[in-house]
Amino acid sequence: MSFYENLVMQTQLNYSRYYGVYAAGKTPYELADKKALTYEKQIEALLQELEEADCVVVGGASGLSAAGGGDFYYGNTPSFQKYFGKFAKKYGFEGAFAGMQFSFAAREERWGYIATFLNTTQKAPVREPYLDLDRLLQGKDFHILTTNQDTQFVKLYPEEKVSEIQGDHRFFQCSRCCEDDTWDAVKPVEEMIQAMGEGTFVPTELIPRCPHCGAEAFPWVRGYGNFLQGKKYDGEYQKISEYIQKNRDKKILFLELGVGRMTPMFIQEPFWNLTLNLPKARYIAVNDRYDFLPKEIEDRGMVIMGDIARVLKDAAESVPVKNAGKKRA
Ligand SMILES: [Zn+2]
Repeated sequence: MSFYENLVMQTQLNYSRYYGVYAAGKTPYELADKKALTYEKQIEALLQELEEADCVVVGGASGLSAAGGGDFYYGNTPSFQKYFGKFAKKYGFEGAFAGMQFSFAAREERWGYIATFLNTTQKAPVREPYLDLDRLLQGKDFHILTTNQDTQFVKLYPEEKVSEIQGDHRFFQCSRCCEDDTWDAVKPVEEMIQAMGEGTFVPTELIPRCPHCGAEAFPWVRGYGNFLQGKKYDGEYQKISEYIQKNRDKKILFLELGVGRMTPMFIQEPFWNLTLNLPKARYIAVNDRYDFLPKEIEDRGMVIMGDIARVLKDAAESVPVKNAGKKRA
């Protein structure tokens, strides 16, 4: 098992042990009682820490995508109505995930929905907070770790700079995990969307199937109980593990963006652990709801409480534009 996955596994044990605490929106860690700087000072400190870091590990979680208008997952938001309106009207779903959990009577309609879901994220432009983050990372050595499956980061950066440990909407796997294989989902999704038109059903023959056993395909994502943790998954963990191990003695900044309370085990707590244990590590989190800085690392970092889009915008505006937004090698 790779170094980073091992950290996640340890954290997961802790999570099960203290499940009630986490479920109540808290943390079992003793927190710093240090008073936070003013917002302006925090933005200055963020820029300073970025400037001084030899390298940056960005942990991008759900709050980051939601901040940029990708807020169609959990509620009946305007963006949900825009992309999923015909399904929302027919079934009263409130948020894209509700439809993914729904038992459609026909497989053709189930796939009409899945195709709509994948098409929405595959085709989405790179959102503003990601572009602002990109400006902040100009000229830095960095690696991205993300639990977001919506492909925003891979639209900006080459695959080797991004570890997508919860899957990626551009790929299918076998729904039965019969073989350790993933394949392109972009073209089949495009064909389903075209064939579906204004309706909600795709033609039976377009339902994507596993090339090995003929079972239905499924998006390569965690969250539905059949996530394929094979060679592609290991590869994602390998990238982040190698990056951290290679840079472990440098001034490494862990920048956590938008981690929610139900999944502290992938980014947040491994970052806390690494900040504590690597000699020159620093930690900054941006979170709109939780101000959690463990006491053990209170002198090694801070939490900026606030709207992620605004924080990144305010910080990025003090950085000159070079080639932000262009895919870099
Ligand atoms: Zn199969």
